[in-house]
Amino acid sequence: MTQEKKNYLRTLEFKSIRYINHDICKRCEGECCKKQSCMLLPCDIEPFTAKQIIHLLENGDLSINALLKENIAIPFLGIREREKGVFSILEPHSSCSKLTEGGCELSDDERPIIALDLIPSYSYPNCYSTITMEDIMVAWTSENVKNVMREVVKYFLKEGETFDEIILKRIQAFEHDIVSGVNKLVTFADKYSIYMFAKEYGYKFRDDVYELIFK
Ligand code: SF4
Ligand code: SF4
Repeated sequence: MTQEKKNYLRTLEFKSIRYINHDICKRCEGECCKKQSCMLLPCDIEPFTAKQIIHLLENGDLSINALLKENIAIPFLGIREREKGVFSILEPHSSCSKLTEGGCELSDDERPIIALDLIPSYSYPNCYSTITMEDIMVAWTSENVKNVMREVVKYFLKEGETFDEIILKRIQAFEHDIVSGVNKLVTFADKYSIYMFAKEYGYKFRDDVYELIFK
């Protein structure tokens, strides 16, 4: 466990807070984990080196996703979702690969900070996290983290391929699916977030795509 994660857990202990509540989560049978997996913070990975991350990606534990900062795509990591590969960018979410019939297969302390921080509620979907998107953005855009991720992404790209090309291909596949009606099973939330990401990224969709998503 990284020092940062230890410090985080110590802070919770100091405040006598332990958000995990097995009783509540057992009753709801992991609704959040069925919808998507945990995003990670760099301090969830020990050691945060390209070698270790490549190992976890090849092992099927994690996937590379992307967030946008000032219209630039920044890679970040999440726990692998079912039927996903190394790159899981702008794809509809699926259930977490660590979710079993008995709940999360990771021990309480092994879980990503975002899972440790999630405050369960009897009235799902009112469970919430104190970690914001801004916190996640700050963590994945520090220079040191970006340098390590650059190396990781490069390892998995085909020769001459770029990270932006992967994103562009995925947006085009999404547009194609929307127009051809293939993606009927994708939730509106998935469609909306992929659409908004692509728009902010500067992609010009066909005129009818907006109507097909929002009809
Ligand atoms: S955090 Fe909330 S949604 Fe997730 S398993 Fe627990 S009660 Fe269910
Ligand atoms: S890692 Fe565990 S807590 Fe996080 S989404 Fe997967 S099953 Fe749920």
